[in-house]
Amino acid sequence: MKGYTRNDVEMHSDHFLGRDSHVAVKVKVWRFTATESVVDKFGCSEKEAQKALGRAFELHQQSFWEYDVPSLTEHFFGKNVKWRTEGRQGGWLVVCNIGVPSEWDGVKLNRWALFAKRIKTTVAYLSSDEVVLDTIEANGWCRPDMRCNQCEALMINGLYCHEIGCPNWKKVKIDGEWVTPEPEEEEDFVYDNEEDE
Ligand SMILES: [Zn+2]
Repeated sequence: MKGYTRNDVEMHSDHFLGRDSHVAVKVKVWRFTATESVVDKFGCSEKEAQKALGRAFELHQQSFWEYDVPSLTEHFFGKNVKWRTEGRQGGWLVVCNIGVPSEWDGVKLNRWALFAKRIKTTVAYLSSDEVVLDTIEANGWCRPDMRCNQCEALMINGLYCHEIGCPNWKKVKIDGEWVTPEPEEEEDFVYDNEEDE
């Protein structure tokens, strides 16, 4: 990456006096969507908006650490790479066994630069208004028509799911009320062949 030097590589250590410091990417840059944006988009209350934002934040952080970080570290540094989180609330992604910048050649430095950029871009993406609002929408967290008055229902893989034991779980919502659906009547299939004439 142009203009990127050894001095740009961030280092982090949980130890006093920087002992045992490793190359790292600062990931505590989660800037999160304002409550008002959620209220504006979904017309929900401020309290609901905050709750939905909290859930989106948790979900995005979880997918970052459980999916993005493992796949990106492996992609850039191979299967044997060792990484961990350091700092309060996991503010740093530390890579432990790829040496230090003073030992690196230009190729290694460039690889690190690209890796750090990808990590920061991923954090920015996962905390962008657009993606956060999408997550809230996809999960129905701020949709009054999706809300269950008996449990914290969730969309899971596109299916509306009540919590176990919810009295509404076999009901459907019609005009804002949870009602037991009528058993579906099987329609007789009538083949209309009049068109042939
Ligand atoms: Zn429910």
